[in-house]
Amino acid sequence: MRYYEFAGTPREIGTQIGQTFAPLIEASIAGLCPQHAHHATPQRIAELTEETIEHHRRFFPAYIEELEGIAQGSGLPLQDIACLALRVYHRFDPGRPECEEHCYVVGVNDSQEGPVLGGVLEDYPFFPSIQKITPAHGYRLIHLVWPGTHWSRGINEHGLCITGASAEAGKLKPGAPGLRPQGDRVVPLTYVLLQQCRTVAEALEFVKPFEMVGLSGMADATGEMVLLEAVKGFKALRRPEQDVLVATSYFRSPEMLDALDRAGYDHEWAINFFGGVGRERYEIMERLLLASQDRSPIERLQEVFSSHEGSKQAMPCNANNVNSVIFLPRAKRCLAAGRFACSSPWVDYAV
Ligand SMILES: [Zn+2]
Repeated sequence: MRYYEFAGTPREIGTQIGQTFAPLIEASIAGLCPQHAHHATPQRIAELTEETIEHHRRFFPAYIEELEGIAQGSGLPLQDIACLALRVYHRFDPGRPECEEHCYVVGVNDSQEGPVLGGVLEDYPFFPSIQKITPAHGYRLIHLVWPGTHWSRGINEHGLCITGASAEAGKLKPGAPGLRPQGDRVVPLTYVLLQQCRTVAEALEFVKPFEMVGLSGMADATGEMVLLEAVKGFKALRRPEQDVLVATSYFRSPEMLDALDRAGYDHEWAINFFGGVGRERYEIMERLLLASQDRSPIERLQEVFSSHEGSKQAMPCNANNVNSVIFLPRAKRCLAAGRFACSSPWVDYAV
């Protein structure tokens, strides 16, 4: 994984990113947008992209300025940049049933080091980068990100760190009401939170009005570590059990399961998704973490990330890994490994 530094106003940062990564951004747009938006006409994609840009301009104007900078620096149209960065194409094919990628979140709350949070990105192995961003107005951060997008996992100068995973709510039973969306689905939220919040408490307050989808592991220098579960405007929190936090591709908090039950989702279906990979992996990771309490939190997470236990898809170190990261909120540092944690070196970065 290559390391880059960008600084300035949102537009300046965007321009630097666009200039640095133009060919990669162009390839990502060509590779991802048509593949996922194949049910839509070009006109519908353009309309929805415009709508999404205007929505984000209202809530996060600085973020849209950064996208405009990326367009300017790369010479690519803003609409194409936004379609990629804001995952507009995903709205045409939200299920992605053909994919067997998950991502996962693992944390340890150590008595000496405080919370230590880690995550693995599983996705298409496009070029991932690690970037230090020093915004003119906002907190400095380091994040792992695909160039031209903000599907970010990172840590800021105050020690707030965030890493996420997708999750299945389950199949809706016939005639069930479902969960109604409230608020607005916001893609670059992690990147915005890292620039504007110092603690988990501030981040949770910030996300209240917005609709999110999936799992976000968060930790900070005050010692807080949580997993935010979110789908269609409904949010629930999980905290470490026996000082260990594990999350894979499905929801587990009693509040979320209760809400899903009442809305008529069969969440057992979600747990058994892809032959129960999420549950199998959960059990492997939890067992490894609980059996290694005499070692340092970094070693414990590294052991999980390098593990080849389990079936082919459930193995924590598997063919879909793009990169792995361990955040140290109190030290304001992160350790990152590219592709396979079992064989890649871990590189230490200070925010
Ligand atoms: Zn491996």
